[in-house]
Amino acid sequence: MMKVLVINCGSSSLKYQVLEMEAETLLCKGLVERIGLEGSVLKHEKVGMDRYTMKAPMKDHKEAIAHVLETLVHETYGVATGMDEIGAVGHRVVHAGEKYASSVRITDDVIQALQDCVSLAPLHNPPNLLGIAACQELMPGTPMVGVFDTAFHQTMLPEYYIYAIPYEYYTQYGVRRYGFHGTSHRYVSERAAVMLGKDVSEVKVITCHLGNGASITAIDGGRVIDTSMGFTPLEGLVMGTRCGDIDPAIIDFICQKEGLTIAEVNNILNKKSGVLGISGVSSDFRDIEEAATHGNERAELALKIYANKVKFYIGAYMAELNGADAIVFTAGLGENGILMRKMICNGLENLGVSLCPKRNEARGQEKDLSTDESPVRILLIPTNEELMIAKDTYEIITN
Ligand code: AMP
Repeated sequence: MMKVLVINCGSSSLKYQVLEMEAETLLCKGLVERIGLEGSVLKHEKVGMDRYTMKAPMKDHKEAIAHVLETLVHETYGVATGMDEIGAVGHRVVHAGEKYASSVRITDDVIQALQDCVSLAPLHNPPNLLGIAACQELMPGTPMVGVFDTAFHQTMLPEYYIYAIPYEYYTQYGVRRYGFHGTSHRYVSERAAVMLGKDVSEVKVITCHLGNGASITAIDGGRVIDTSMGFTPLEGLVMGTRCGDIDPAIIDFICQKEGLTIAEVNNILNKKSGVLGISGVSSDFRDIEEAATHGNERAELALKIYANKVKFYIGAYMAELNGADAIVFTAGLGENGILMRKMICNGLENLGVSLCPKRNEARGQEKDLSTDESPVRILLIPTNEELMIAKDTYEIITN
């Protein structure tokens, strides 16, 4: 019976889960917040028990992971009697560039390759690498696997990933579409095939990962044809605080008008734009829907613009795939946003997409939301990136 620890390290936070792999069951999950800051805290939930909260100074990721490992063997809240029960660690890593198209066992070469990708993901890869280094120090001998957000999208062909800028920027600097949320898109597309009663190789699906960050992917027979996030996660759909697609000329124009640097405008496009920027209310759709129902016109406008952009991409991907078997909704808004799903699907009937208003009244469970007649099925599928990471890890370690 193998237990796998899944680690997802951010700059000042860390999420983890332990899964038992024979039955693929979750044993515990937790979160460490404020790493390297005042007031570090670990919140741990063993399945079926109350939450355990532990406050202690944690100056870096290594100290945070040391506390996680202690908690995993805690006599009441633990899920293992000793560290030797944790057979492997799966690490979520954001960017693997063009180097890896699937998950791999972590070696020195892999670490070097991920280091080489730091300039492509300067905010994400460094904490991911810190997490790997900390685990290697604290759990010497335990095999580790890297699971990459970009990997699933590596099946894209150049006619979809090359930008129309001088080709040398691709060959010299790796400027191209990479795509993100790959683990989520892969998980829900595989579940979609199961729900459709077909093999992945036989289905065409459009997966909409609508969370704080949002991306949409066209998948044919398990291979990504196209995806909306690009060189960075800024491109594509309108998001909570990111602008998605805009005319690149806007950047210089705003720099001039506001006397800002490119870096400052870039920051605004990442953190102060999206539905937050349009509405001025919030980046959270619950707040925006609330404001819209109370007559806030900009909140209503933000919802309409958001829905239109998702619809725009669904149309584009229906064309690129020459029709689809299913559209999948996942992540925070995709799984819970009853109103948003309705706004997105409204007016797609002539493309064969017909949402059943009654079935759409659902949250957080696998469910077919389309009418019996709808040629394209509309599927609600809660994502589970951690399970995917654990499964990859288990498979690579046991084979
Ligand atoms: P995620 O990044 O997947 O955790 O998604 C977070 C986003 O999901 C939040 O910003 C919310 O806007 C959205 N969300 C979560 N629950 C709901 C809900 N009940 N209704 C509408 N949106 C929701």
